[in-house]
Amino acid sequence: MIVSDLRSGVEQLGDMIAKASVIVPFTGAGISTECGIPDFRSPGGLWTRNRPIPFDEFVASQEARDESWRRRFTMEPTFKAAKPGRGHRALASLYRAGKVPAIITQNIDNLHQMSGFAAADVIELHGNTTYGRCIGCGRHYALSWVKMRFDADGAAPDCIDCSEPVKTATISFGQAMPEDAMQRAAELAQSCDLFIAIGSSLVVWPAAGFPLMAKNGGARLVIINREPTEQDELADLVIRHDIGETLGPFVGN
Ligand code: NAD
Ligand code: ZN
Repeated sequence: MIVSDLRSGVEQLGDMIAKASVIVPFTGAGISTECGIPDFRSPGGLWTRNRPIPFDEFVASQEARDESWRRRFTMEPTFKAAKPGRGHRALASLYRAGKVPAIITQNIDNLHQMSGFAAADVIELHGNTTYGRCIGCGRHYALSWVKMRFDADGAAPDCIDCSEPVKTATISFGQAMPEDAMQRAAELAQSCDLFIAIGSSLVVWPAAGFPLMAKNGGARLVIINREPTEQDELADLVIRHDIGETLGPFVGN
């Protein structure tokens, strides 16, 4: 059911939260736009400006790796300045209250961790852009190290252990999904009684399969997104409003 006015959306959501015992939030880029990080698919979003660099291209070409890191460094002031928004803070409140065991996110911005979720309870389907990782051995690198090497050599660096390329610790198009995260997300989706999809256009698969999985597993499904999504008909409640406005009333303790 789609509710048109914000106030009754918030009321119905509050009822569903009160009645639920295990709530699993699932977040997309929309929860972070109020923190200054653009999403992909809104008008003017990142998608419209930069064609994503697929994984095979990154692996095959030094030029693609250089371009990929140049873009990342350009975004750094934006990521660095971002603080958790009302949506992040509301979800962290429910987590502290014991209603939310863990959160599934498509985001790579580390804001759920910053809002108070333990790192182990943030299931990152698409990785994390706040550090680098060797695509061969998995060694972690601070962005400052990558930047220093890039500036010194004029090119994106390789791993000091195994000489494979260092990439942001994100999942690119064409790159394998993290198995652990997929497994844990499936278990969470199937064991909750309320699943809340927030700020996702629900078009990026396989991540977009989790709301459906939760619904099939018997959970009630809520979708909060200011634009229609592909799964609105499935949902028990659709709140087509701003996320900060919708979740602000749930920021507590
Ligand atoms: P998306 O860009 O496809 O969709 C975001 C949705 O959020 C849009 O439908 C938009 O209408 C909605 N939205 C934006 N701001 C909103 C607001 N304030 N209130 C309500 N709705 C709002 O994002 P996605 O589904 O997460 O998929 C894009 C992929 O890009 C993700 O898989 C993610 O890995 C990556 N990404 C991440 C970030 C981030 O970490 N913050 C930012 C951009 C892209
Ligand atoms: Zn390595």
